[in-house]
Amino acid sequence: MKLDDARVKKLVQENALTLCIECGKCSASCPRMLTGKEYSPRILAHKLIAEPDSETYIENSVWECLTCGLCEERCPSGVDISKFILEMRTLLAGTKGLKGYRSHDGALHSWMRLMTAPELKQDRLDWVGPELKVARSGPVAFFSGCAPYFDVFFAQIGVDTLAAARAGIRLLNFLDVTPVLLENERCCGHDLLWTGDRENFEALCHLNYQEFRAAGVEEIVVACPECYQVLGGLMPEIVPEMDIRVTLLSDLILREVSKGGVSFRPLERRVTFQDPCRLGRTPGGVENPRTLLRRIPGLELREMKNSGRGAVCCGNNAFINCDAYSKRIQIERLKEAKAARADLLVTACPKCMIHLTCAMRDPYRHGSLSIEIRDLAAILAEHIQWSKDDGAAEHAPR
Ligand code: SF4
Ligand code: SF4
Ligand code: SF4
Repeated sequence: MKLDDARVKKLVQENALTLCIECGKCSASCPRMLTGKEYSPRILAHKLIAEPDSETYIENSVWECLTCGLCEERCPSGVDISKFILEMRTLLAGTKGLKGYRSHDGALHSWMRLMTAPELKQDRLDWVGPELKVARSGPVAFFSGCAPYFDVFFAQIGVDTLAAARAGIRLLNFLDVTPVLLENERCCGHDLLWTGDRENFEALCHLNYQEFRAAGVEEIVVACPECYQVLGGLMPEIVPEMDIRVTLLSDLILREVSKGGVSFRPLERRVTFQDPCRLGRTPGGVENPRTLLRRIPGLELREMKNSGRGAVCCGNNAFINCDAYSKRIQIERLKEAKAARADLLVTACPKCMIHLTCAMRDPYRHGSLSIEIRDLAAILAEHIQWSKDDGAAEHAPR
């Protein structure tokens, strides 16, 4: 791909790379670079503008970025590195084929692509026990995403990704909502999009819209921030007729809790919160989960050194290029949790749970980084209750 290609030039312009003043703040905050990887967003920006013969460097860099957005928090020029990376990956994949080393031999991307088959029939709801009330059709749906598949795939490292899905339904049931749970829901396509496979990503968007529309859904509640970014932010661009509201579960719970009548049973734990990248960059994404956690009596919230909008990612994005540098990021993150003297790490993204648990289970660490990792929804669902004064029978259904 020639750098003087009009499409590359357009992306450089649109994402403000021409405004780069080469201050280096991006590189100074980039977790990939800080762990020693030969990758620098500042050099990438420089080469894109000033060294048109650097094709190889640029093409390799495009697949190295974690797309965490941390550099954008510090860039004084408003350079949108992660959006540039996303669009370059689509461009490169379309012209040179998909690149980037696929973790787990690409098995996860394969099942995501399998879901683009229009005639696909899935058997994905065997985890829904009789204690959970779900429906086949109705106005509100819960999006369980890839949780049922992750749960099987990562069973050997003991990550319970379905706990968040069960908790999401339990929280909705608590609010007198019986959500639609689709037997044939598809992956949201986040990882296909971020690995350059826009064609299959768009196919998933259309299929999901058709499935939800056929079930009469007017609002989709999602627990995972990546699904939220796709369904709420990107899907309307792909599916112009998209008329279904998308709500983040933690925002919904905070809104309902703020009305009064709801409280939480105590939890005597020292908790630190791992900000998922896709959540931390949304309005309220840093504060809302913490506001909910602070409402739990006895829970002591302890911040890691890098937290909130300055939080460091879990070391991997879209299941590509997981390497020794990813592990180093994860180890540092777990060390930060330990340094915060937390005994429970809460997050709101199944992938943070997966990647951090994977690093923690390294037998050569001899358990030194062990910490319980749980999903925010699971903690909330276990402790939410109607306040005694209001009485369960008198609460107003949502
Ligand atoms: S922080 Fe922004 S302006 Fe500074 S080097 Fe990085 S991209 Fe350029
Ligand atoms: S998005 Fe994250 S990984 Fe990519 S350049 Fe910025 S800080 Fe580095
Ligand atoms: S850190 Fe994540 S992507 Fe890497 S091997 Fe572990 S589970 Fe796979």
